Amino acid sequence: MVRTMTTHGGLEPVFCTIVPPHVLDRLARHDDPALSGPARRSLQRDAMERTRRRLTTVIGATAAAAPAGKQDGQPHRTIYDAHHGTDLPGTKVRGEGQQPGGDATVNRAYSGLGATFELYLSVYGRDSIDGRGLPLDATVHYDEKYDNAFWNGEQMVFGDGDGEIFLDFTIPVDVIGHELTHGVTQHTANLAYFGQSGALNESVSDVFGSLIKQYTLGQTAAEADWLIGAGLLAPRVTGTALRSMKAPGTAYDDDVLGKDPQPATMDDYVHTGSDNGGVHINSGIPNHAFYLAATALGGHAWERAGQIWYDVLTGGELREDADFADFARLTVKAARERYGAGDEVQAVKKGWEEVGVPAS
Ligand SMILES: [Zn+2]
Repeated sequence: MVRTMTTHGGLEPVFCTIVPPHVLDRLARHDDPALSGPARRSLQRDAMERTRRRLTTVIGATAAAAPAGKQDGQPHRTIYDAHHGTDLPGTKVRGEGQQPGGDATVNRAYSGLGATFELYLSVYGRDSIDGRGLPLDATVHYDEKYDNAFWNGEQMVFGDGDGEIFLDFTIPVDVIGHELTHGVTQHTANLAYFGQSGALNESVSDVFGSLIKQYTLGQTAAEADWLIGAGLLAPRVTGTALRSMKAPGTAYDDDVLGKDPQPATMDDYVHTGSDNGGVHINSGIPNHAFYLAATALGGHAWERAGQIWYDVLTGGELREDADFADFARLTVKAARERYGAGDEVQAVKKGWEEVGVPAS
């Protein structure tokens, strides 16, 4: 979730779901009610949650502060079960430090929140998404056959999927990392969720979502799959994931879902009014630049490439309305400041060059 200015001069949160609206819109028009029904209902729920979040913000609610007794450098996770209803947060089913129970969905949500917390703390020295130990809450089994997952500015919410197109949304740890990273962005650069700044906001979530998966698996840049949402698509779908940072535009090509619309370079930049100006579409371009820089450097992508991106996100120079070229320039500057004039600067510059974004 990030904020943009509203007509009444306040800050309106923008609500990010992992499955972009253009995917569910298409699914909602399908002839088979087993496919269109859950998609329609999911779109209605997304709209409802977006409105609910807006009202909460206008009333002036703020995110919870770290609870008394929470130790610095430790996560504070609580998992709730909505029991297929829509009341949030639902019934508490697992608290911090409690042993896993019999529900694999609850256990995956708990682990995924922990993995996200761990990367930010161990690698970047950040205590939770706000840097001040924000408790991490998540609700699972939200609604019936809900085809999405989201961060609403206060907590994570996961659907079980319809079982036909989407499986359980707690399966890919990068989806959890993606959504929580919207919280990190909200507390730092606060990139406006429209056009290129919105695509950067999405890309930053994909970058750190993928890095959380890579860190959890101990993978090098060469070993990583660079997919977002691998394991989420049901077996009948012709596709491997929601997005590919390695090869944007190739994650799926399916008779029901259509084809992955992401471009890899500026030559194929998509001009559209939908999806907030293509925030989930053109994010393929900065995603691919990160992939190119990280694989050129080799080793663990969260170390040098990830550190450079993190420095830009949190360094205070990235404007809320930054475009791709602004971001590219700042990554080159951050690489030079942290590592001097060496491989890092060259790899970052070359990554942006290859996707057609000027970096100097
Ligand atoms: Zn997102």
